Amino acid sequence: MAAPMRLKSTLAVVTGGGSGIGRAICQRLSQEGASVAVVDVNIDSANETLQSLSRGVPGQDHVVLTADVSRSDSVLAVMEQIQSRFSAPPRVAVNSAGITRDEFLLRLSEESFDSVLSVNLKGPFLITQAVARSIVSSGQNGGSIINIGSIVGKVGNLGQANYAASKAGVEGLTKTAAKELAKFGIRCNTVLPGFIATPMTDKVPQKVLDKISGMIPLGRLGQPEDIADVCAFLASDDSKYITGTSIEVTGGLYL
Ligand code: NAD
Repeated sequence: MAAPMRLKSTLAVVTGGGSGIGRAICQRLSQEGASVAVVDVNIDSANETLQSLSRGVPGQDHVVLTADVSRSDSVLAVMEQIQSRFSAPPRVAVNSAGITRDEFLLRLSEESFDSVLSVNLKGPFLITQAVARSIVSSGQNGGSIINIGSIVGKVGNLGQANYAASKAGVEGLTKTAAKELAKFGIRCNTVLPGFIATPMTDKVPQKVLDKISGMIPLGRLGQPEDIADVCAFLASDDSKYITGTSIEVTGGLYL
């Protein structure tokens, strides 16, 4: 079924757009008419995403921007490049960049803890702040910020103390941003994926994935497109009265 066209004339920035969930989000937003800034630390994969984007709407213009979202100078440079190319702030921002450094708590290094928190939590903070500042300073209110959390942030997971903490933090950040930014018409929500088949979960042994599939009421791992569907809804005016919430997209896992 063809995607609706809810995002014509909308500029969206998607971090982690080079792979997995972020790539599917870039594709879906472009299918709905948005111009997309694909942000990723990996320029080759971001360029692959760029090649796959829809260009069906006159004026649609996509760009790849290389950045490390955990660095404020890098995020600032992204915002400057967006401003000079589009002469407008992004109205939609999706924070999908994320990493894992799994290890049991008793062996977890400080470096692994810090690196996961830097990308998964500080990254969304820096992007949320930068995008909100650019919207506010444009004098034209309105926007939607979507953070990709994880169901693991709610329930924990063996070997993921750093990751679960970062994703729980994302929900707190998002709820606070929603309260502070509502007066500027900026909505902020978190999407909580369950287990989604992407390069990130390719690292999980097949035996474990089979076990998880068996625990999912809908009977399968999620696909990146399952998350992209929800992000497109949150990006669009169809969700105009929704802010500060978290939407679980898990196939019913951990109900
Ligand atoms: P992925 O590994 O396929 O993609 C992550 C992307 O983020 C990659 O392109 C990578 O280059 C980019 N990236 C990593 N560090 C970066 C940085 N510092 N700056 C900019 N880009 C960076 O992973 P995915 O499965 O698509 O995950 C996307 C998001 O969804 C992550 O936040 C992840 O935690 C979350 N998530 C995934 C699952 C899952 O089952 N796959 C479940 C819950 C949540």
